[in-house]
Amino acid sequence: MNQDWRGALIRHLLLLIVAAALIGAVSGQYAWALAGCLGIYLGWTLWQVLRLHKWLKNHREDEPPPDGYGLWGEVFDSIYHLQRRNQRARGRLQAVIDRMQESTAALRDAVVMLDADGNLEWWNLAAERLLGLKSPQDGGQAVTNLVRNPRFKEYFARGDYQEPLDMPSPVDDKLLLQFQITLYGNGEHLMLVRDVTRVQRLEQMRKDFVANVSHELRTPLTVIAGYLETLLDNAGDINPRWARALQQMQQQAARMQALLNDLLLLAKLEATDYPADNKPVAVDLMLLAIRNDAQALSGARGHRISLETDPKVRLKGSEAELRSAFSNLVFNAVKYTPEGGEIRIRWWGDEQGAHLAVQDSGIGIDPKHLPRLTERFYRVDSSRNASTGGTGLGLAIVKHVLIRHRATLDISSVPGKGSSFVCHFPRQQVA
Ligand code: ADP
Repeated sequence: MNQDWRGALIRHLLLLIVAAALIGAVSGQYAWALAGCLGIYLGWTLWQVLRLHKWLKNHREDEPPPDGYGLWGEVFDSIYHLQRRNQRARGRLQAVIDRMQESTAALRDAVVMLDADGNLEWWNLAAERLLGLKSPQDGGQAVTNLVRNPRFKEYFARGDYQEPLDMPSPVDDKLLLQFQITLYGNGEHLMLVRDVTRVQRLEQMRKDFVANVSHELRTPLTVIAGYLETLLDNAGDINPRWARALQQMQQQAARMQALLNDLLLLAKLEATDYPADNKPVAVDLMLLAIRNDAQALSGARGHRISLETDPKVRLKGSEAELRSAFSNLVFNAVKYTPEGGEIRIRWWGDEQGAHLAVQDSGIGIDPKHLPRLTERFYRVDSSRNASTGGTGLGLAIVKHVLIRHRATLDISSVPGKGSSFVCHFPRQQVA
């Protein structure tokens, strides 16, 4: 083909020169003859260009280009092939896009694509069902105008999407949705929304179950503990062989009561997002009382417990909840610090907010345990636990109370040297 058009071009030029030479020989006007022949060739070339132009402008899809000769034929064919190749590539891309759209449309989870400003670009069918988006009129609208819940607005504006957001669907508040946003490209957002109503219901059933069982066990246990106490009060009448058994039974009953109390407290903390009361709490006085209790708990073990507080810094929140969280931290320090150890309690405020640090010179915790320490019943050393009488729920309670007061817990520890538990309360929580 390549050779063909070269040959044709050379043939055309030769023909032109021969024709010009012949006409020139006949007429004796070589220059005019060459000019005339060139003019004819130019005219033919222009005609080919015009045909190409007409075809490019008006042709139907699949209509082949007009027949051309020599170089022009080659140009027509090349353009035609290029066009066909593009068409095929476009078809393949369209098929991929169609398949993608079909598969995302079949998803039960909502997928929403937003631009960098949070305006809707594309969404699937589930997004219409779960979020009430309407196609196509909602295209280009800001997502915060369509999902109007203030919690969603705050979450979206914050720009920190590490944790998902759970909230009711804007179209049906019986549906609980979980929003998860990922940033990609030039700050565009990909929003995935899952219906977690069922998971939430199961979670609620679990919480209710634990709360109900704890509640139901409380009365029988109170009766058993009460009779044990009465029996031990009359220890003189009892066979001494039984007295020790009764004492152990009383100890274990007390442990079970502590466990039930902690489980009930946790259930109560989980039932709502924020504490019911939001009064200013005098943390310094509370810590003073906790310190005295801790000294009593330490007893003959002789811990040195120091307390530094700033009485001006007060917290907004529930006094009972904060007391149980703080005393858990301080009592843990006593439990896990050997005799004569040092415990330091500090309470202070700064620009970031308010902070409570409980530091001890105790046994410490291996760093591998730190991430799981606040899980329920997580124990570093279960054999030691039995001797300290812990329930394994103390730090879980601390975590829940802190979450409810928008605070965070920092734990650092060196095994054998001691541990430090620091609670950070944000400024908005300081009274
Ligand atoms: P427990 O009732 O067993 O104390 P917690 O939830 O309060 O349960 O604590 C979980 C575990 O964390 C404890 O079993 C203990 O191993 C470890 N721990 C907590 N506080 C300290 C501390 N101050 N020093 C060393 N270990 C600690």
